[in-house]
Amino acid sequence: MQSAVSRSSRFLMALLGLTLGLAALLAVEALRATRSHQVTADRALRDYATVAAWELLTASDEQLQHAAGAVLGPVVGSPAASPYDSIPSAAALARAADSLLPCGAAGDSARFVFSLDLRSGALTSRGAEPPGPLRTWLADTIAREARSLAGPTGRYATVWGPPGTGGAGRVVVYGVKAVRYNGYAVHDAPLAVYGAVSCPAGMTRLVAGVLAHHPLLPAQVAGGLPNARLVALTVSDPSGAVLLRAGPPPGEGAYAGDPAAGPGSMAVRAWLPADVAGRLVVTGPGLRLPVLLGLFVLTAALTAVAGLQVRREQELVRLRHDFTSSVSHELRTPLTQILLYGETLELGRAGGEDGRREAIGVIVQEARRLAHLVENVLHLSRAERRLVRVSPAPVAVAPLLREIVERFAPLAGGDAVRIRTELDESLVATADVDAMHQIVINLLDNAVKYGGTGPIVLRAGLNDGGVRLEVEDRGRGIPPRDRDRIWQPFVRLRSNGATPGSGIGLAVVRELVVAHGGRCLVEPGSDGGSRFVVELPGAARLPLDGGPLPPAAPAPSASSRESPWRAS
Ligand code: ADP
Repeated sequence: MQSAVSRSSRFLMALLGLTLGLAALLAVEALRATRSHQVTADRALRDYATVAAWELLTASDEQLQHAAGAVLGPVVGSPAASPYDSIPSAAALARAADSLLPCGAAGDSARFVFSLDLRSGALTSRGAEPPGPLRTWLADTIAREARSLAGPTGRYATVWGPPGTGGAGRVVVYGVKAVRYNGYAVHDAPLAVYGAVSCPAGMTRLVAGVLAHHPLLPAQVAGGLPNARLVALTVSDPSGAVLLRAGPPPGEGAYAGDPAAGPGSMAVRAWLPADVAGRLVVTGPGLRLPVLLGLFVLTAALTAVAGLQVRREQELVRLRHDFTSSVSHELRTPLTQILLYGETLELGRAGGEDGRREAIGVIVQEARRLAHLVENVLHLSRAERRLVRVSPAPVAVAPLLREIVERFAPLAGGDAVRIRTELDESLVATADVDAMHQIVINLLDNAVKYGGTGPIVLRAGLNDGGVRLEVEDRGRGIPPRDRDRIWQPFVRLRSNGATPGSGIGLAVVRELVVAHGGRCLVEPGSDGGSRFVVELPGAARLPLDGGPLPPAAPAPSASSRESPWRAS
């Protein structure tokens, strides 16, 4: 049976090991998944930043096209019918020009509109007077760029004035008026350029306006955050001069998008700050990792606990097995004696009255030994079902202990002479008498079995308002590491292996003592050996001539069982 048990617990251990292995595998997989998620999330967050930059540029360009269309559209919107048509001068733009890239009070004085006839190269302007180099630059550059456009597209171009032309820091928005040819195929050719020149602040204002009203990321991605809290932005002109910084500071670990270039090579860079990343739909990296690792540690801990439990179960099974065989052995010895002497009596071979008395004495003594053993087993079984009950009542300790020693003497045989008592005669304790029999007999029995040949001392005295009982022998003693565990059921020390026993005597002592609200322990004896100590609460020293006994301590319920040691 034991091998079946150990087989099944080996199987259980293997299962537990497998569980742990699987948990480790899952943890590794989760780690790898988290890493790959981290890379994907990182890429996605950078892509979001890039998208935001492009979105700003595109929306700004739309806005610019719209504004330019309102100003330049009436002039350049419809193609001329003939290359010889006269074209309107810049004055035609002047009325609406204020709405295109206004600079604000400080810069508006530098703004002007212009027309450039591509046939003659004639440049006319309205508004602020353009400096000479800027006029030349406009005439050359815009004429060249306008011609290189693949025909009018209905869109307007943006150019930033280069340094050194007097146009540094200027932004030019223009459209091309075309002439339509109806030949083999209809096609348009550039005829004139109409445009507006403004300060960079005009562009900055336009971009800032877009930023204030146009969401840069779709709502389901932005998680409800406005642009101002979502993206850090830098807008710069082609020379690298920063036109606008917006949004939260990017900070450490921000996700930078690729730079985007828009109207007139205006550049935008965007970052998603790290703290914002966690709030977006693609969650920040590594958020679930601690949870997964925590779960793995928990699984490992649970497996370890289960493994320990299995080992304890195994140990218990072994102890019970030992117990069964040692109890059987313990029962067989007295039974053999009883049988032997009983048959002797039955056959009338006792050899006279003395022989009969001796035979009856042995039978009674062995029957008591049996009864004591059975009582111990019953106590243990009650203890396992938490049914141990005692009914403490005031009792004079010295007479009780002397009676117990007397009852025990026949069992101890020749060893009885070794038992010496040192008793406080006036001591009255609150104790269950039956339980006291069981406790003291178990301790004396052990002292006789394991205490060598030296004297055994039974002491009783008052200690801190309670009674302190001691049973001291001069045997081998109990090693310090075993002093706690010998009180557990079925525990027998290997050093005493040859001495018969069931391993439950001390466990019963402890259960009964605890039921009294007391405690028990073992310490080294004063002359080697061991001293088993039992302390029960509620004792007093009374005058020998009598007097009121101390009140009984309350107990759960009375034990109705009569101890075999009290039966005469
Ligand atoms: P057992 O029936 O084996 O005596 P107990 O529960 O009474 O069971 O004791 C448990 C173990 O404690 C014993 O097997 C023995 O190894 C050890 N032990 C008990 N009393 C003594 C003692 N007086 N001296 C040395 N060892 C003892």
